[in-house]
Amino acid sequence: MKNFTELDLNPALKRAIADLKYEIPTPIQAQALPILLGKPTDFIGLAATGTGKTAAFSIPLLERIDPSLRKLQGLVLCPTRELAMQVSGQITLMGKHLGIRALPIYGGSEYGNQISGLKAGISVVVGTPGRLVDHINRGTLKLGDLKALILDEADEMISMGFKDDLEAILKAAPHKENNIWLFSATMSRDVRRVADTYLKNPVTVQVNKKEMLSNTVEQIYYSTNESNKPEVLCKLIDIAEDFYGLVFCQTKSLVIDLTSFLNERGYKVDCLHGDKDQKSRERTMQSYRDRRVSILICTDVASRGLDVKDVTHVINYSLPRELDSYVHRIGRTARSGKPGFAMSLVAPMNRHLIPRIEKMTNSRMREGKIPSGKDIFKKKIKKILSEFNNQKTFTRAMEMMEDTWKTETEHMTKEEIIGRFLVMGFPAMFEGAKEAPPQQRTPPRRDFKHDTRPSHKHASGGGHRHHKRRG
Ligand code: AMP
Repeated sequence: MKNFTELDLNPALKRAIADLKYEIPTPIQAQALPILLGKPTDFIGLAATGTGKTAAFSIPLLERIDPSLRKLQGLVLCPTRELAMQVSGQITLMGKHLGIRALPIYGGSEYGNQISGLKAGISVVVGTPGRLVDHINRGTLKLGDLKALILDEADEMISMGFKDDLEAILKAAPHKENNIWLFSATMSRDVRRVADTYLKNPVTVQVNKKEMLSNTVEQIYYSTNESNKPEVLCKLIDIAEDFYGLVFCQTKSLVIDLTSFLNERGYKVDCLHGDKDQKSRERTMQSYRDRRVSILICTDVASRGLDVKDVTHVINYSLPRELDSYVHRIGRTARSGKPGFAMSLVAPMNRHLIPRIEKMTNSRMREGKIPSGKDIFKKKIKKILSEFNNQKTFTRAMEMMEDTWKTETEHMTKEEIIGRFLVMGFPAMFEGAKEAPPQQRTPPRRDFKHDTRPSHKHASGGGHRHHKRRG
């Protein structure tokens, strides 16, 4: 299957797919759609976030639903509220010309709205397992007319402790005709056990790791000591032409420390970690999407389901504990044919993981050179040049300038005049510099809980506290 137009779909669904500007199916869609649109079968799709799996199950799900029944016919289980909201939004977009909407149902929000939504005869519910079990037990969620039950990111649901809820839902759902579709990034032992217990002769498709990697992503690793990582991260951000990135850390405390470190340095940064309540997570996501912050620091779990367009960089501040997560993380950049960078900061003790990642992804990572202070300095000056070129309101300044300006600057070279203005306009950049560009000063020591694998050690590091960034 090369194109969506080849599929025998309801024209209203085809129109919604065209509205979304999907033309060529992703590998998981190309493999899963012909199966799920065919005769009923249980199904296992091994594919991670960012591979297009939502459409791979939403299209066949929407094809099966009769909105005039006004009964629940599709149920999607997701590990997090964010993913539930995202998947529900995508199903609603795809179902818009069919008159089908999805309702997200998750813990931490009021029952009232959820119950009235369910009573209104919604066709598709997308929810987190715990809250769905509550609704099943209260009798507000009835599964008798289900045409498909979808487990999205089954491995995550199990690792987040939803195994019992998941099984309770699988037991409660009718299984008249084969209709359970399980999606998972990995086939862990627990996922295998769930599949063996509840699925009947499932057809399995797998998108291999290589296919999951975008061919426009450039993978680079930087060898650095744990204590230098904060400085190296700043340099990588500063040297980038454009930085709209995600930074992954292994632990919540590292996320918090690194966020406040970058904040003090004047970067526009926010974070996602397990202790944030729903409201604050949503606020963070909104400000990242609106680009009021350009750096989002997160743990793997907190970033589940995170889908943001045009991410330029994914930085593995710590390499993931599970190497599978590497593909998961870096799948957030270089989407839709756009270029993207996946950068990993690698401490000597983790250097051996690089060939393992290369083998797993069947791809190459190149070793990058950490930019020097001088490189960064030149880059900053270069960025000022584009601001300089964009100046439109200088004629007034020219009019007000008295002749003394001309006589005083007559003997100066162009370079000297520009240099003097740079120092005046951006004093912080030249702080401490005499003739030459500034040298790195010795950083004051600062407690910084680093994450070293496999054991967690506290190291100290941080960096010199200097000026706030401009812009
Ligand atoms: P998912 O893995 O389902 O979260 O999808 C990842 C991203 O890819 C989402 O932003 C989708 O809107 C987008 N996407 C999915 N399928 C396609 C496609 N066939 N063509 C272009 N974009 C797609």
